[in-house]
Parts: sequence; C-alpha cells; structure tokens
Amino acid sequence: LFVVFEGGDGAGKTTQARLLAEWVAAQGREVVLTREPGEGPVGEKIRAILLDPATGDLSPRAEALLYSADRAHHVDATIKPALERGAVVISDRYIDSTLAYQGAGRVLDLADLEPIAWWAADHLVPDLTVLLDLAPRDGLATIKELDRLEAAGHDFHDRTRDHFLELAGRAPERYLILDARASITEIQAAIRDRLAGLLAP
Ligand code: C5P
Ligand code: MG
Repeated sequence: LFVVFEGGDGAGKTTQARLLAEWVAAQGREVVLTREPGEGPVGEKIRAILLDPATGDLSPRAEALLYSADRAHHVDATIKPALERGAVVISDRYIDSTLAYQGAGRVLDLADLEPIAWWAADHLVPDLTVLLDLAPRDGLATIKELDRLEAAGHDFHDRTRDHFLELAGRAPERYLILDARASITEIQAAIRDRLAGLLAP
C-alpha cells in the first residue's frame, strides 16, 4: 500500500507521516517512512543542490528534472522494493509536488511536464494521497529559515496550492483533502480512519 503526503510548506506533512507510520507499525505491518527530495545518498546530493540558497537561480526545467531524477531513483531503489515485500510505504511528498511547484509554480507547460514526471515515477500511482491544504501565508509564517524554494514569492506558492487542489479534484477517490489548520490529533484521526479501510485484509 502506497500512501503519500502532499501540501505546501509548513502544513505538517512530516509530523502526520510520522504519526501514521507509528500507527501502521503498531498493527504489525512493515512500514517504510520515506521522503522527497532526499532519500538515501543519491537523494541527499540532489536535495542539497535543490535547496541550498547558494545554488541561486536554477533553470525551471533543470529544477523539474532534478526533482524527477530524485523520484526516479527513489521509486526504483526504495518504494518499489518495499511495496513488493508487502510493506506499507508512506512518502512525505511525491509527484504532485513536482506538478504543483515546478509545473504551476514555475509556470512550465504541464502538457510537457506531466508525461516526463510520470515516466520518472515509472507510472507508480499512490493508493492514497493525503493533501494537507493550507494558505501559503499561514504555512510559511511558521518556518524560521526559508530554503531556496520556500523563499520564492507569494504568487508562486499560491499557484502551487491551487494546483495541489486541482490534482486532487481530478481523482477524488485517491485523495483525502484535509484542512491543515485543524489540530494534529484531529488530522491524524481522519487519516487513520481513511486508511483503516484500505489496510483491512
Ligand atoms: O522537506 P521539505 O518538503 O520542506 O523540502 C522540500 C523543499 O523543496 C520545500 O521547500 C518545497 O517547497 C520544495 N519542493 C519543490 N518542488 C518539489 C518538492 C519540494 O519546490 N517537487
Ligand atoms: Mg519545506
């Protein structure tokens, strides 16, 4: 079972993913908690290029390809082997982040980017994507030191948020959209509720 957390910066994806992983493990299932960008030694190197403010301007197509390169390796080296063993894989970000940040945020042509992004992901579709929806001004306000992407302008982050919602609207059966302003406990309960149905044998 492949579960993904998506949403803007500061929405609480990492916290919720960790709590969910604990709950799944407590049921005796193997859990692989992972993230993008930055899983493993290859991911760490790509993440450093992408997030270091010292990288400066990066061509938007290069940025999209670096996130996609990270994902291609992540899918092949971590996600697919874990799914094949029957593990529950929980990923903090996945393909929607690329479509939302690089596609909508950087204003790349989505008709070009989508097939490239899906090819990079080896067409692996999550069973459930939890979208933690939050106004960018609320999410970014809680972050102390902004990385290269977080420091992009408000319009960039507004386009990103809108596109996350649009992607969820295209396939509502594979998404759980939650208001990230709710409490950590309330959000986690809603996610567990939804996952319980998917985990049942
Ligand atoms: O750990 P976190 O998810 O915050 O780090 C990823 C960073 O990269 C975030 O600042 C996010 O805004 C950015 N990002 C991006 N495009 C992606 C995925 C993440 O710009 N496809
Ligand atoms: Mg961030």
